[in-house]
Amino acid sequence: MPKIIVVGGGWSGCAAALSAAKAGAEVLLLERTDMLLGTGLVGGIFRNNGRYTAAEESIAMGGGDFFTAMDQNSRHECINFPGHKHASLYDVSKMEPIIKNILKSYGVCIKTKTRVNHIVKYARNLKSVIIDGGDELEADVFVDATGTAGPMGNCLEYGNGCSMCILRCPSFGPRVSICHKAGVNEFFGHKADGSIGAMSGSCKINKDSLSDEVREELDREGVVILKVPEKIKRTSSLNKKACSQYALPEFADNLILLDTGHAKLMTSYFPIEDLRTIKGLEKARYEDPYAGGIGNSVRYLGIAPSNHCLLVNGLENVFCAGEKSAILVGHTEAIITGLLAGNNAVRCALDMKYLELPRTVAVGDFIAFVHEKMLETDGLKLRYTFSGSVYFERMQVSGLYSVNDLEIKARIKENNLTDIYNTCLV
Ligand SMILES: Cc1cc2nc3c(=O)[nH]c(=O)nc-3n(C[C@H](O)[C@H](O)[C@H](O)COP(=O)(O)OP(=O)(O)OC[C@H]3O[C@@H](n4cnc5c(N)ncnc54)[C@H](O)[C@@H]3O)c2cc1C
Repeated sequence: MPKIIVVGGGWSGCAAALSAAKAGAEVLLLERTDMLLGTGLVGGIFRNNGRYTAAEESIAMGGGDFFTAMDQNSRHECINFPGHKHASLYDVSKMEPIIKNILKSYGVCIKTKTRVNHIVKYARNLKSVIIDGGDELEADVFVDATGTAGPMGNCLEYGNGCSMCILRCPSFGPRVSICHKAGVNEFFGHKADGSIGAMSGSCKINKDSLSDEVREELDREGVVILKVPEKIKRTSSLNKKACSQYALPEFADNLILLDTGHAKLMTSYFPIEDLRTIKGLEKARYEDPYAGGIGNSVRYLGIAPSNHCLLVNGLENVFCAGEKSAILVGHTEAIITGLLAGNNAVRCALDMKYLELPRTVAVGDFIAFVHEKMLETDGLKLRYTFSGSVYFERMQVSGLYSVNDLEIKARIKENNLTDIYNTCLV
């Protein structure tokens, strides 16, 4: 049985572990913190705009376990807010154990509080990874799903300092990139002004600190839109955001709150004293990041170059997924790349032809498009997501965007991809 080690237990690492296990491998998933899901512990929005299509394509391909779990754990379905249609919001406070149980049911061995800090390499292959404490763990093939957020030194250099986000670097140690340790030349995302990285685009307010009126509306509708008084408007922060799908004037003119279990505030950060001048938010306090009054985590620091099968350039047995694999934003985007990386990791171990998703399906076109755009001069300044910005525009023009489940299923069938992730390769 091929042995696969997935490093990083965010959405992309979880998806890679799932698809490698479904393809018949023995899978070890290593996560440095005490919980899976990484930045997915504080996100929650899915199925908005083109993410609907990508989720349904993945379901038709046999990789839908997580989307089904998110649907079942949704606080709101099919809601609209500026620039976004038919969004669902999963409950961030309940998602993690559900995903952990799904992975365990497929036999994935999960080790949390296990941070990889080094690797052992021979020629163009990884032999093993070394974890804090010194143990060496060997595998046939590896997936680097370590993300691109932080650690603290980067948030200080490229942002407003450590914002005490969910990744909790002071407690669990900094993010370590496997590809970087293996000598791969990684690249960085840029902001519109050319500076490095991008600040995460939303923060969370403790729901109990909202007025009864705002909290009740949020519980009922899933979304609350509050006008920002002219004197505290902050349009300049829009172009620094990681999530260009929310860099719209509506998000500067209004405070948009979404009910993900906490009150998700759709702006990178907002001074708490200004926040409390708004009716209903007089007692507001931050839930994530704890220092949401001054900043947020900085991401897109350390992306590995890879081909469309997500094999890392220059290495023969390392795949990458999620933000590690491209300047992509989102849980859905992390999951679709994780599913592909996990499946190809097993193919690599078995010496099989790699799976490359065709451009006639949205998930295949997305991966190829992002890789191509990142080679263009200004491509590193953009963020890529099914839910907005350049890629959603492209989906609409090309006809790949669809909310018709039967049409999406038929498309996957025509491309001979039905249940491809449910097929045991061993
Ligand atoms: C505040 C915030 C809100 C967001 N909201 C949304 C949203 O509503 N909807 C949406 O679709 N997207 C949202 N996003 C974006 C989305 O969360 C990410 O793009 C996506 O989940 C990234 O997944 P990932 O697996 O690539 O990386 P990450 O989530 O960063 O996961 C990487 C994991 O690797 C671990 N790790 C790192 N180094 C090591 C190591 N050496 N050893 C072991 N483990 C390691 C980390 O601890 C982490 O758990 C949000 C992001 C943030 C920060």
